[in-house]
Amino acid sequence: MKKAILLILVVCCLTEISAQILRKSIPDKLVVLTFDDAPASHFSRVAPMLQEYGFGGTFFVCEFPPNSKDSTLYMNWRQIQALDQMGFEVANHTHTHANVSKLTKEEFNQQVGYIEEKCDSLDISIPTNFAYPGYGLNAQSLKFLEDKNYHFARAGGSRPYDPELDHPYLIPSWATDSTNKKEIFEALKMAKNGEIVILTIHGVPDIEHPWVNTPPDMFEEYLTFLKQNDYQVISLRDLEYYVDYAMARKIITPDLNKKLSN
Ligand SMILES: [Zn+2]
Repeated sequence: MKKAILLILVVCCLTEISAQILRKSIPDKLVVLTFDDAPASHFSRVAPMLQEYGFGGTFFVCEFPPNSKDSTLYMNWRQIQALDQMGFEVANHTHTHANVSKLTKEEFNQQVGYIEEKCDSLDISIPTNFAYPGYGLNAQSLKFLEDKNYHFARAGGSRPYDPELDHPYLIPSWATDSTNKKEIFEALKMAKNGEIVILTIHGVPDIEHPWVNTPPDMFEEYLTFLKQNDYQVISLRDLEYYVDYAMARKIITPDLNKKLSN
């Protein structure tokens, strides 16, 4: 008898936690598309394709002043502003694609503050979400993000995101490249039973970083698959309809031992 009461208490308690973190239950076939590093192809190819399919997406922007020989390989700020005006999310990937795990708090604030100010000056919604450049992060990075009240931060890890288990600053994702089409299709099928699949996509194509190149035909295959199979494709910002990030931050202990890079 006592055991039965205990069991009921445990079940109630677990239900309560999930009700607190989740604003709505997570539907099957929920996918978040994120695009990193602001290559020119995000404006010229990706945005028009997403619009054609009626999909959302998050663009994690940064500048690459030290290694960009040719500035036309990257979006300029007017193009980034146009993405915002089209309804896509513009989010923070630091000013110079900095490894956050190696920054002091002051340097971190400068790095993210640059992007916030740039957005503010161009009337772009000020970023509330973050992606770790090169997946560089540590416990301190989470504290820095919390102090600036960021909502979600995307890492790697090649596994689905469970909003009731994964800390909102350690959101896992898969990264696409020219060789892992099979893996990405397998990943997309994992968007079910309360788990969300998030993709990290660089240039389509990516000229300067061929190791994260996604050929345009392959990208279109993903979009066609998502459309034909009735997936809901949203930005990271749209996760707020489902996930109470502040509550998740409070309840979930960050697990830095999980795989967090791709
Ligand atoms: Zn990056």
